Amino acid sequence: MARERLDKMLASRGAGSRKEVGGLIRAGRVTVNGAACRDPACKVDADVDTICVDGVALRARRERYFMLNKPMGVISATEDASQQTVLSLLPERERDGLAPVGRLDKDTEGLLLLTDDGALNHALTSPRRHVDKRYRALVSGTLADDAVQQFSNGLTLGDGTKCRPAELTVGAVQPDGLTEVFVVLREGKYHQVKRMVAAVGGHVEALERLSMGPLVLDEALARGQYRPLTEEEIAALF
Ligand code: URA
Repeated sequence: MARERLDKMLASRGAGSRKEVGGLIRAGRVTVNGAACRDPACKVDADVDTICVDGVALRARRERYFMLNKPMGVISATEDASQQTVLSLLPERERDGLAPVGRLDKDTEGLLLLTDDGALNHALTSPRRHVDKRYRALVSGTLADDAVQQFSNGLTLGDGTKCRPAELTVGAVQPDGLTEVFVVLREGKYHQVKRMVAAVGGHVEALERLSMGPLVLDEALARGQYRPLTEEEIAALF
């Protein structure tokens, strides 16, 4: 496995937040192969180096992290009496304790992170964290000439909901007449992409999430497929 920053690695193994582990490191409470390391940016390999906090060796990772390419028609929930959930796409033995990180609408496809790491789930979905989420949408209708500007100003939806500044990039018109657009949001309101596009004159016909923070949808995953995150992907989330 690749080497990674000491502070990131400690945070991803549950030793504390990035800020907290930075304090531990600078206080000389973390050793790498027996010697105190006071540099949070020092590169380590958890599979090779012996890393201790206050003399206690770092525990192996227990939490599980999966990237799912969500297909249409399943809901972002752990269980439901009548509808198929995203968890049903995993074999039963993998499901225990997993939950989706945030939600995608039933008809939205693409990147969904599943984990049993409640603290990370909470951190990534916290409104304070402002994690970038990038979407690709196919849109019908005619977008306002100033749609990009309205997004970047932070537009107000029909019901008065105020949105934070967001990025809109208008791409090419597809052979079927729909316009490809890319949207980056830093918050997660109900049906937000659909409602923002509607506010500038369009209608979202298809929506896919491409990335969330540093995590990018693996193009090798077909819709409905999932895979564990790599150590590098996990470390990048902390
Ligand atoms: N915005 C939406 O409108 N739907 C989603 O599923 C995600 C973002």
